Amino acid sequence: LFASVELAPRDPILGLNEQYGADKRGNKVNLGVGVYYDDQGRIPLLEAVRRAEIKRVEAAAARGYLPIDGIAGYNKGAQTLLLGQDSPLVAEGRVLTAQALGGTGALKIGADFLKQLLPDSKVAISDPSWENHRALFERAGFEVVAYPYYDAATHGVNIEGMLAFLRQLPARTIVVLHACCHNPTGVDPSFEQWKQIAQVFQEKQLVPFMDIAYQGFGAGLEEDAAVVRLFAGLGLDMLISSSFSKSFSLYGERVGALTMISGDRDESTRVLSQLKRVIRTNYSNPPTHGGTVVSMVLNTPELYQLWTQELATMRDRIRAMRDQLVDKLKAHGVKQDFEFVRKQRGMFSYSGLSAAQVDRLREEHGVYAIASGRICVAALNSGNIDYVAEAIAKVL
Ligand code: PMP
Repeated sequence: LFASVELAPRDPILGLNEQYGADKRGNKVNLGVGVYYDDQGRIPLLEAVRRAEIKRVEAAAARGYLPIDGIAGYNKGAQTLLLGQDSPLVAEGRVLTAQALGGTGALKIGADFLKQLLPDSKVAISDPSWENHRALFERAGFEVVAYPYYDAATHGVNIEGMLAFLRQLPARTIVVLHACCHNPTGVDPSFEQWKQIAQVFQEKQLVPFMDIAYQGFGAGLEEDAAVVRLFAGLGLDMLISSSFSKSFSLYGERVGALTMISGDRDESTRVLSQLKRVIRTNYSNPPTHGGTVVSMVLNTPELYQLWTQELATMRDRIRAMRDQLVDKLKAHGVKQDFEFVRKQRGMFSYSGLSAAQVDRLREEHGVYAIASGRICVAALNSGNIDYVAEAIAKVL
């Protein structure tokens, strides 16, 4: 049966992690990861999460099946994060949400649903994009194309190239957008540019599939949802995949949600009924623990307050690391301009380092980064940043 099965290529990032694990050097640093670490280099367990978990354990609740679309309070909380309190769209019944297995799970159930609805549409993702976008939509049966996005010369968005590409797409092309904190570049369009992008979606009847995996890591919870609210406010039907993996530091609990905004209440009812069939035939219903904890935090004012503070601490720490990296590179005599690193947002930075420089960083200094030059700024800390800055200075 299995004799003809070929060995699949290794996931490049996981491969790098394995290599890092096997490295015996005491001063090694892993900037190849996609995870937030605190200043002690640990994945934090947020206090808001810890308190919710204690309450949950004390309640000793049975673990029956959840509804197919998950916990109602969780879904409501996810909608509020995206659209704000008192959203008229929610009041009109145009918004539906299903708890999902992380952002990845949300993208996948969205992709499966769309494949039924728009079997002949293509999917457009940014060039570059999160490395799983292409594979995920191809697996769901779509042809995937890439729209121009990153401009290495300016360390900014190639907005003209992007707009021109979007304008020539057939109506109903599905376009994946990073709502904030673009992975892997850290470079987002300005709000003015987003308005131009949204206008093309309207004119050309493109289908926005927003991916928001870092809400709260850019400028703040509200600010980072501005693009979702811009598109929603224009009356565009859309899909949004939310991930809470980073914002709650609950990576392994698989906490995410798929939200869709439709034309009216009746449409939403029908769409949700179809989405539930997708879920039912994939994994039946989502797991209880992570969703319950997130729901408790989102719906308990004291825990919510605490969570937003902890999120702000993570955001501020990343920004401080950006500033320090730029300053320390200068202090090490680097003449090249790295000011752009301060302006990037979220956990990642396209550092501008070449593949050869990344190789030297790893081989000569034990500093691991992705071949594209992507570094995880959230893996820098006060204990390793001097060493990293010095190592980068040496390979430049
Ligand atoms: N989208 C983007 C842009 C991401 O960076 C990630 C996670 N690295 C995901 C989706 C997937 O999130 P999750 O881990 O919650 O599945």
